[in-house]
Amino acid sequence: MGLFNISCKKATLLSSKKEEGRLSWIEKIQLRSHMTICSLCRLFEQQSQIIAHHAKHAECADKLSEEAKNKMQEALHPSK
Ligand SMILES: [Zn+2]
Repeated sequence: MGLFNISCKKATLLSSKKEEGRLSWIEKIQLRSHMTICSLCRLFEQQSQIIAHHAKHAECADKLSEEAKNKMQEALHPSK
């Protein structure tokens, strides 16, 4: 485990912190290096950006987060 090896849980946490512009330089590097190796977290980041974009519209955000969950499920279980 090196300094830049972070878990998916940490990566998603950093990803949402990034939306708020609260990442330190080291967290930015950790997040970026995780994104290069983890396609699931890349997908999560894309989805969370879409959700953040539509966050003003509660109904819309609900719909999208449901969709995001389904896409996460697909990514986790591609054979289904
Ligand atoms: Zn990940």
